[in-house]
Amino acid sequence: MGVEMPSCHLKQIVTAIPMAHAVVLAERWFRALSDDVSVFTSLYRWLVETRHVAPAGLHDRTYAGAGAARRLLAAERARIARRTKLRGAALDRAVNLSDLNAGPQTLFAERRLLGDALVVVPDDDGEVQRVIREMLQDDSDAQTRKARSIASGADFGQWLASNAGRDDPVGDLADDMLRDPGFPRSARHYQEVSAYLLRNRAPHGALAALGDAWKEYAERYPARVARATWCARCELEIEDLRAGILAWTGRGGFEVRHAACAGETPEYELDLQQLLVDDPALNRVAAFGERCGAPPWAIAELQERLRLWGFSQRAGRRQPKVYFIQAGPSGPIKIGYSGGPVERRLAALQTGHPETLCVLATMDGDRFTEAELHRRFHGYRLSGEWFKPEPDLMDLIAVLQQKP
Ligand SMILES: [Zn+2]
Repeated sequence: MGVEMPSCHLKQIVTAIPMAHAVVLAERWFRALSDDVSVFTSLYRWLVETRHVAPAGLHDRTYAGAGAARRLLAAERARIARRTKLRGAALDRAVNLSDLNAGPQTLFAERRLLGDALVVVPDDDGEVQRVIREMLQDDSDAQTRKARSIASGADFGQWLASNAGRDDPVGDLADDMLRDPGFPRSARHYQEVSAYLLRNRAPHGALAALGDAWKEYAERYPARVARATWCARCELEIEDLRAGILAWTGRGGFEVRHAACAGETPEYELDLQQLLVDDPALNRVAAFGERCGAPPWAIAELQERLRLWGFSQRAGRRQPKVYFIQAGPSGPIKIGYSGGPVERRLAALQTGHPETLCVLATMDGDRFTEAELHRRFHGYRLSGEWFKPEPDLMDLIAVLQQKP
């Protein structure tokens, strides 16, 4: 099997280089082309005259996504055919020559570019080279991580062994494991290991260390951790969530068990299926706990147990976003930054705004990205963070809206 060349969408370039110009070529742009010069020459001229792009080295600074490259090439082929009456292979050769000499770049950081648009990067080679270096570095980091994950083994035991000598309880647990041939190294459930430690009368510290170790392991290799629940009564796995309940007995706390396994009559109970499916943040669990009147520590303990059983991804740190919000169907556009959910920001802005607001696009970015975009579009500034919906701003948004 051949190795496929990695690809990258144009929106990754505009995200990494906010000062880049995004350009979407409409059908009418192609219809207005002159037959006298190559399509690429027309393109560069148009970029300078209409989009006020600095003219130096445009051939090297203009990147075309596969869609735009295909359309430009088709237009150039048609133009050459009209002018030369060449056909077939001769026409292909002529187009290839023209493309090689003048067409925009279709690779960025050794990646095939996706998207139906163009991006013109600033005439500042240092910045662009830095971004390219970082992308290439990311690729090699990803390969290193992959190699390391293979090297660190497919199971919990091998991962834990790689932490031997660490100066904390997880390191101690790793040392204990290496001295213990019976340790269930290939465990895919926290429960298997904790049951083993309990059977062998491991000290409480070892169980706490296992909890820390398992969470770290699960966070790093989520695919290797199986989700499962165990019945507090019969101690067997509850293989089908529909057969399990979460019960709150007040006195006895929370209990996960088979519905069919007898236990104390619960004050409240809920099907596990209803509780755990599609709830990685364990919000429904917390809401249920509150409804039961359980104390916060009991809810926290329950959530902790469910985390160890693989029922939540740790809520990752949220990637801050730069958003583009439009007032009305063709009104001004607010370019802002939000560390929290953009929807919440939208709702806050909508309060007291006469027009209906709409999030057109978002991109990864922080307050520096926001500041760069404000600088980039300062000519269109209406007031504060609101800008006129001029074509190059709308083209940037169109690129961000394209599917990867
Ligand atoms: Zn049971």
